[in-house]
Amino acid sequence: MQALTFRGAEIIEYSTVKDPQLIQPSDAVVKISMASICGSDLHVYHGRETGEDHGTVMGHEFVGVVEEVGANVTRFKKGTKVLSPFTTSCGECFYCRIGLTCRCEKGNLFGWMHNGHGLHGAQAAYIRVPMADSTLLPLSADLSEKKGLLLGDAFSTGYFSAENAGINPSGVYAVIGCGPVGLMAILAAKHLGAKTLFAVDLIDDRLSFAEKFGAIPLNPSLTSVKEQILNVTQGRGADAVMEVVGSDKSLTLAIDLIRPGGTISSVGVHTEKNFSFSPGEAYDKNLTYKSGRCPARYYAEKLLREGIPQQYAIEDIITHQFELAEGTKAYEIFDKKLDKCIKAVLIP
Ligand SMILES: [Zn+2]
Ligand SMILES: [Zn+2]
Repeated sequence: MQALTFRGAEIIEYSTVKDPQLIQPSDAVVKISMASICGSDLHVYHGRETGEDHGTVMGHEFVGVVEEVGANVTRFKKGTKVLSPFTTSCGECFYCRIGLTCRCEKGNLFGWMHNGHGLHGAQAAYIRVPMADSTLLPLSADLSEKKGLLLGDAFSTGYFSAENAGINPSGVYAVIGCGPVGLMAILAAKHLGAKTLFAVDLIDDRLSFAEKFGAIPLNPSLTSVKEQILNVTQGRGADAVMEVVGSDKSLTLAIDLIRPGGTISSVGVHTEKNFSFSPGEAYDKNLTYKSGRCPARYYAEKLLREGIPQQYAIEDIITHQFELAEGTKAYEIFDKKLDKCIKAVLIP
């Protein structure tokens, strides 16, 4: 089959690889209808996540149609339309039972292979999905492919970020970073009742999206974000900050904006070695810091059940669509945010 494979820092190749096969009886093979590029793929792309095997199929966000199932798969059969979180999960271990499916004892991240171990990704014609019954979800008739795709990571992660921020209608909140996850965090925070919600980004067209989703746009190159937030909080600072970038700079801004006793909800993938603030600064702010990978399997199921992605035009953030064969170009456009690109999908 054809796939986008990792060949070294900033080298993504459209290549022919072996078709995925069933290995375990709990596996399924899914024919990809649509995959997408995620901000966390860029860490691999730029070589910031060292250790990814050359030749690994990239990507962890997809929807598709079940092509083949192993003997132990009972919930899905050939032809079922499915969506998937970005990690596999067994549904039975300690972590799966407490809803922390992203830390499943048997789980793996799609699109991550190290020394021959791990899973190939979704930017391909087909993908092997281990533990299919407890990993995949049916793509219900009321859900478009694009909504299903975003539910597997960006929307679930945005919602997780907003929930960790402890949103209530009387609070003042800020979202740092208005990429796909930040925009989803804004929608989720609004859904959870946030009335005063600031959106921080340097790119104006992303801020326009944020405004459309109900946030107050702030461009730090044009205004003092801190001053704006102090102005509406009698000088206290934000009740919670959702930090979705995963950089030193954004974390520094987050602690600067937060009021004593506030919460930083951090869902951006961090690759720095240390926190950008000291334990003393955290102490002085009586800070609550919540971070980590979103348990997307848990959230996707919950949000679907509650009918939340069905209510909002979350798919509006998908600004670009490419053929899989144009993957190299797609990565470049997505990475450099060219042509006002926010989220890019790939069609095999
Ligand atoms: Zn992702
Ligand atoms: Zn598990």
